[in-house]
Amino acid sequence: MMKKDYPQCAKCPTRVCENMGAKASDGPISLEKAPAFCPMKLMPGVYSEAMAEYDKPEVNEFARLASVQEAECYERLPDGLRTRLPRIEELIQFSRKCGYKRIGIAHCGGLFKEAGLLSQILENNGFEVVTVQCKTGAVQKEKIGIPSDKKIALPDDWESMCNPIAQAMIINRSKVDLAVMLGLCIGHDTLFIKYCEVPLTVIAVKDRVFGHNPLAALYLSESYYRRLRNKIE
Ligand code: SF4
Repeated sequence: MMKKDYPQCAKCPTRVCENMGAKASDGPISLEKAPAFCPMKLMPGVYSEAMAEYDKPEVNEFARLASVQEAECYERLPDGLRTRLPRIEELIQFSRKCGYKRIGIAHCGGLFKEAGLLSQILENNGFEVVTVQCKTGAVQKEKIGIPSDKKIALPDDWESMCNPIAQAMIINRSKVDLAVMLGLCIGHDTLFIKYCEVPLTVIAVKDRVFGHNPLAALYLSESYYRRLRNKIE
């Protein structure tokens, strides 16, 4: 069998990097119990390189605000730690912390209604909101080599292609402080990320079956969606 010498944190039996139960004043962790595929063992040089990036003032401030926001998503009550902010509120609070004024939403046509609701919520919270739908440009799918029988629409009907590159260019030129992706398809989102030149976050990803919650398939993968776990020989 081929030796697996690449990081596989998702299979880690110990997660020693979390150092649960230790005190902040304790010394550095021991890697003795970390598995052989641990990136801390395989790529130890990465961590000093990464910390050098955090030493850059603008990166440091961004990372600091992100961690402050992360902590504010919880509250410690007498009976323990509780979550308190849905992602929409997290987005609003983090954008305020960063001093953002204008937010750009790149959305799918299938989430037109959700884009309108998100836009209104952000405007009510004092932001300027630019929104761009995926079908912008009204370019037919045939232009990128899609034959008429591979369209969603009937072969003779018009079908505009998703145009994530144009979405990114419009978001870039609209001088937004933050871009937010809302429900772009797999692959279209990849292109949007590639061409987007401003800070970018995601409010939702597309899942046509599970109401844009792809994790539902994982939660059902030991019951109704067991087929997902079938091993392909
Ligand atoms: S970094 Fe190492 S210890 Fe942490 S989860 Fe990954 S493999 Fe486990």
